[in-house]
Amino acid sequence: MTFRELYGREPDGRWAAPGRVNLIGEHVDYAQGLCLPFAIAERTVVEVAARDDDRLRLRSLAEDGAWEGALADVGPGSPGGWAGYVAGVLWALRRAGHRVGGIDLLVTDTVPLGAGLSSSAALECSAALAVDELFGLGLGGSIAGRRTLAAACVSAENDVVGAATGGMDQAAALLATAGHALLLDTRDGTARAVPFAPAADGLVVLVIDTRVRHRLADGQYGKRRAAVEKAAAALGMPSLRGATLDEIRTLAADLMPRARHIVTEIARVRETVMLLDAGRLREIGPLLDASHASLAHDYEVSSAELDLACTAAREAGALGARMTGGGFGGSAIALVPVERVAALSDAVRAAFADAGFRAPHIRGEEPSAGAARVS
Ligand code: ADP
Ligand code: MG
Repeated sequence: MTFRELYGREPDGRWAAPGRVNLIGEHVDYAQGLCLPFAIAERTVVEVAARDDDRLRLRSLAEDGAWEGALADVGPGSPGGWAGYVAGVLWALRRAGHRVGGIDLLVTDTVPLGAGLSSSAALECSAALAVDELFGLGLGGSIAGRRTLAAACVSAENDVVGAATGGMDQAAALLATAGHALLLDTRDGTARAVPFAPAADGLVVLVIDTRVRHRLADGQYGKRRAAVEKAAAALGMPSLRGATLDEIRTLAADLMPRARHIVTEIARVRETVMLLDAGRLREIGPLLDASHASLAHDYEVSSAELDLACTAAREAGALGARMTGGGFGGSAIALVPVERVAALSDAVRAAFADAGFRAPHIRGEEPSAGAARVS
């Protein structure tokens, strides 16, 4: 199915936005922490034409169900399903005072869905960039403008779709640059590019998708968030961003390990950035390992599959490995010398087979550019 077959004309253009992998800084984006995602090569592409009324016609080759309605029909919970991610972006931009009209849209390519690579933000951000250009909002050409677009994408996901998301994914999709990770400070929303080009150092970031997502994931996310907020309140602080380990030790036994993860993880992001700025990429492995241990033991968001992916990767020669994303399944990452990739992938697959786990999907990722018009 092509745009022309669907809508009887050619699109005005095509816009793409990447998925992302978080190198380090996990579960800290709701604690005003620091995280360090990078954009990946996989992209979601939308073909879009502006309309001269305020109707939306939305369709995706990756998901069933077309949606058609008026801008005025969009709001919390409407439309349901995948179309909410796109319609929500127009709704949020409009609510922020921008003049946007109707569109015809077809999603033609996609970041793999639900693999922990943030296909939802890629969809929102590709649509946001299209709408920005087609309605002349003038936001896509500057960093400040892209931050405004990212905020609209977060609002679409929080307010229209009703999914909790902290803002890291949308910032990565819109602000990342090739050969760099993006140091994101979620306290003030600022971002800075940090050199990160594994290939130049003979390394690859392998993403090991366990293809498992445990059902307790969503409820546990809310519980961790609540624990972190309770810990900050107990310390009389707006967030755990500025807390010290000495202060954390005074917390009740159920809150202390959760808070300790936040504080130590933020410190690990700083150390990782220091090493990357100094060109010492090969030395970040122990920080990845320590991040995983903290997520597994203090924060308790890992899973048997994620733990096995990391130990098997380390035993087969990874410099470091950790779960990435929300946890309870999803993906792990491993920093691997290029010459070990094949043997290491085989070893991880064999370990999964021995444990009776589903065969993982393993792919190498290189830090790539953020969202852009493609034609
Ligand atoms: P992730 O962002 O980690 O891939 P999410 O659950 O946050 O996982 O988002 C996945 C959802 O986003 C899908 O279930 C679908 O509703 C929507 N989505 C993502 N990409 C597409 C696409 N190309 N076409 C239609 N819907 C999409
Ligand atoms: Mg998502």
